Amino acid sequence: MHKYFEYEMSSDKSKCSTCGAQIKGRNATNLLHHLRSKHKDVAEEFKKVEAERKGSTTSGDRGTEHTIQVQCNVVFAFQR
Ligand SMILES: [Zn+2]
Repeated sequence: MHKYFEYEMSSDKSKCSTCGAQIKGRNATNLLHHLRSKHKDVAEEFKKVEAERKGSTTSGDRGTEHTIQVQCNVVFAFQR
């Protein structure tokens, strides 16, 4: 599996595995924004994986915050 970001807890930054850029925090929206503006091919791949994941994790919609949390978990699941 592709690893997109590495989160560093000590500095609260996520490092892009593709170009090494550092993004503050680990907000999935920010990470996706980076992929979309810098690595369109990676963003497309991520979207596909995310769509498949969403199909199996649609147990109750609690709004944007919940959705972002789920996306965040998806992003960091690739670390393992
Ligand atoms: Zn990057």
